[in-house]
Amino acid sequence: MLAPAIIPHFIAGERHSSDEARTTPVYNPATGEQTGRLALATPTDVDAAVRAARAAFPAWSQTPPLRRARVLFKLREIIEQRADELAAAITAEHGKTHSDALGEVQRGIEVVEFACGIPQLLKGEMTENVGSAVDSHSLRQPLGVVAGITPFNFPAMVPLWMFPIAIACGNCFVLKPSERDPSPSLLLADWLTEAGLPSGVFNIVQGDKVAVDAILAHPDIAAVSFVGSTAIARYIYATGCAAGKRVQALGGAKNHMVVLPDADLDQAADALLGAGYGSAGERCMAISVAVAVGDETADQLVAKLAPRVAALKIGRGDDAAMDMGPLITRAHRDKVKDYVDIGVDEGAQLVVDGRGHRVAGCEEGFFLGGCLFDHVQPGMRIYREEIFGPVLSLMRVSTYEEAVALVNAHEYGNGVALFTRDGDAARDFTQRVQIGMVGINVPIPVPMAFHSFGGWKASLFGDHHVYGPEGVRFYTRLKTVTTRWPTSIRAGAQFVMPHT
Ligand code: NAD
Repeated sequence: MLAPAIIPHFIAGERHSSDEARTTPVYNPATGEQTGRLALATPTDVDAAVRAARAAFPAWSQTPPLRRARVLFKLREIIEQRADELAAAITAEHGKTHSDALGEVQRGIEVVEFACGIPQLLKGEMTENVGSAVDSHSLRQPLGVVAGITPFNFPAMVPLWMFPIAIACGNCFVLKPSERDPSPSLLLADWLTEAGLPSGVFNIVQGDKVAVDAILAHPDIAAVSFVGSTAIARYIYATGCAAGKRVQALGGAKNHMVVLPDADLDQAADALLGAGYGSAGERCMAISVAVAVGDETADQLVAKLAPRVAALKIGRGDDAAMDMGPLITRAHRDKVKDYVDIGVDEGAQLVVDGRGHRVAGCEEGFFLGGCLFDHVQPGMRIYREEIFGPVLSLMRVSTYEEAVALVNAHEYGNGVALFTRDGDAARDFTQRVQIGMVGINVPIPVPMAFHSFGGWKASLFGDHHVYGPEGVRFYTRLKTVTTRWPTSIRAGAQFVMPHT
């Protein structure tokens, strides 16, 4: 049997893999079958990518923003025309359903569309006569070579959160995709070339911690964007900052959905089902905790949810009839299953048990059925820790105030939702809740591309959220120029600060 094909790096406009000795398997999670061998970058590979990016920077940063935008307009057309191909590549290595993958592609296209407006976004500020015949203007300039390190759960969308804005701003980019599902990034690299991007402006190094550490240590990388789990985000932030880089590091999440007794409970149950089990719960904005205010609200929600969780259609992501696909790896599936065991041991009530779920014809796939816990308590590990799987915990509180206190006391602060018909409560909630992204009767409040995405607390380390206006700020730095014309006006030597 032939060995699975090598999945290479992309450096200076070409696919390349220099060291095939270090590889890691890539799987189709629905079948458990190995589909590729990923080349793992050495520090030399990372250096080659950075050198290609640095060589491309002078010309690219001097290319008028309008022309940079034209490349992105073309990329947008290509992705839209080939959305099915990109979605199929996502499903093949991630496992999510094809329609969900198409949604991921669409969210990514929207960031490209935002980046197409770069001539407008880079306009600076100007003040005439800050002093007599003195003018000031400020402008934003690119940083140089910047890097992105991305997680497995959105193998196209998260890279697309980063590089379109970075390169639109005039930077050159080195991407280190997740080693679990690296192929969608390579498609995007090929399409950038087709769209007319000069070689070296966008590069990919495939790899693991070795590649990440080489990025963090490289003196010619000015900034790092990271999205992944909190433990690694903390490490990236501390190490990158200590090396003098600008860093934004987005971490994990435990997103609550608070349901007040006046909410439309059918709508709330629909929302919990989609936001809890869509993409097998492997979304950083998935709802993993439902907080029901009042026992009656809780009882009704459980009654509505339980039969629907038990009946979720789970199978291959390329089967259009499925609600949910497999988890990313066997190890991750086992870890999520272990959390369910832990929840049972901790005394939570397992209302729906998906641990024994089997998918006919895909016995080696990394599947887990939907699980639903009731009576989860704040001290339990299944509440405190991110599980990142199809496991929804229901908690019961007596009052709205208790619900707010619970959400605010949690370590994570990515997303939160409130379901209610009460405008006063909604307004109070949006003001007091200590969370970066808030939905009112919207379960997954992911900001559109022209806003910015980011959590609070242990869900984000750094000063900038990603994409949107914050993305432009992250990938540029401010310069302010003060100019005196004409030179014929002599101010004489000034030894004091101007005070009149
Ligand atoms: P992960 O932290 O394991 O990996 C993310 C990236 O870090 C990958 O590229 C990986 O190769 C690299 N990495 C892993 N271990 C490393 C180490 N020890 N040293 C250096 N680099 C290392 O995350 P994941 O499992 O790929 O993704 C799931 C996590 O990402 C979840 O915690 C999820 O909440 C989070 N996530 C957060 C957001 C957000 O916007 N806040 C979005 C998507 C995913």
